[in-house]
Amino acid sequence: MLASLAVADAGYKVYLVEQHPWIGGHMSQFDKTFPTNDCAMCTISPKLTEVGQHTNIELITNAELKAVCGEQGYFHVRLLKRPRYIEEGKCTACGQCAEVCRLKDKVTDDFNMGLGKRSACYRAYPQAIPVKYAIDPEHCLMVTRGKCGTIPKCIEACDQKAINFEQKESAVKIEVGAIIVALGYDCFDPTLKPEYGYGRYQRVITSMEMERLFSPSGPTEGEIIIDGKVPKRFVFIQCVGSRDQTVGNPYCSRVCCMYTAKHAYGIVDRVPGAQVTVCFMDIRAFGKGYEGFYERVQRKGVIYRRGLPSEVFAHNGVLVVRGEDTLLNRPYEEETDVVVLACGLQPPRGLREIAGILDLELDDNGFLKEIDSHDPVTTARPGIFLAGCCQGPKDITDSVSQANGAAAKALAVISRVKE
Ligand code: SF4
Ligand code: SF4
Repeated sequence: MLASLAVADAGYKVYLVEQHPWIGGHMSQFDKTFPTNDCAMCTISPKLTEVGQHTNIELITNAELKAVCGEQGYFHVRLLKRPRYIEEGKCTACGQCAEVCRLKDKVTDDFNMGLGKRSACYRAYPQAIPVKYAIDPEHCLMVTRGKCGTIPKCIEACDQKAINFEQKESAVKIEVGAIIVALGYDCFDPTLKPEYGYGRYQRVITSMEMERLFSPSGPTEGEIIIDGKVPKRFVFIQCVGSRDQTVGNPYCSRVCCMYTAKHAYGIVDRVPGAQVTVCFMDIRAFGKGYEGFYERVQRKGVIYRRGLPSEVFAHNGVLVVRGEDTLLNRPYEEETDVVVLACGLQPPRGLREIAGILDLELDDNGFLKEIDSHDPVTTARPGIFLAGCCQGPKDITDSVSQANGAAAKALAVISRVKE
């Protein structure tokens, strides 16, 4: 989004291609940002609106990259646009279709990390851009079975006649001078670390789930309610799926230390009498203001215990974290109400295929490879630039810097073509 705005503000046309029905990515799921504890939605929402309203930016949502040919200054890009089943020109986002949908409160809400339910016609979050609803093709009865009652209730409810199940996939061809790849990341799947009990115990959750619990627009409207209760004891485990050869991710994810500190701070702040322990390997508070925030969290009473636990198990219905405190050289077992797994960042699904289409290389960890370790923006293919976590894990600050760097490089290419 920021790279698009930088290029568009310089007077050039931008096509912003998004695979989902709305833009915003993971940032739109966050409650607060570290180290300042600013409201994440207050930060991203003006940018979402700016992108949506910018006359030089054309949003192409629900789209997938299919082919890229040509060279810098003269790329031909082919996209596949999947149906939204709602005509964007007609939808006013009134939400009536979602209210009457036969699957209301039955579809797992992936934006809320499965902690809530929604309809098959939906808008992922209240600030989502474009301000349009979409129909979830994996669940909607009309799409999956070809029938939803005699007449679908959503069609009956829509005064604008925006719902259109006749929409088909379509090919979109565009010509551009430069390409910025900003595909983001996926979170590590904690079931690959079965010793921590994710999926086996309701009260072992991920940090992204924690993020949605904190959010006022999340499934509990910001209340920390887990498995029906407000817990008092929390253990955070860092580096889950990071710096871990056993799952093939030897790299540091660079954000888990600080987002865990942010969550620990948030728990102490919101849950009276909460006891919070953070189990860590090292604390990597490398960014501006990070060390100060880490100290502030400790002053709040959060206990930092060095050494990653070996196991989480239940004993008489109580969760127990077992490990060795490597500062005290002593094994321990700690009872807790909740375990929060600070899952690492990994390359987004499908990155290898997209790299193939773009003719880009992957690095040893499966992220897109830059041309030189001192230039994280430029790729080996002239005219194609990188921004954000698809090049490697990074925090928001670094992603913003890289986006502006990529925009500057792209502008240099397209301004030469214009001359
Ligand atoms: Fe409203 Fe129709 Fe859009 Fe649904 S599709 S939000 S009913 S205008
Ligand atoms: Fe919901 Fe049925 Fe409409 Fe699909 S067709 S969105 S399931 S009411």
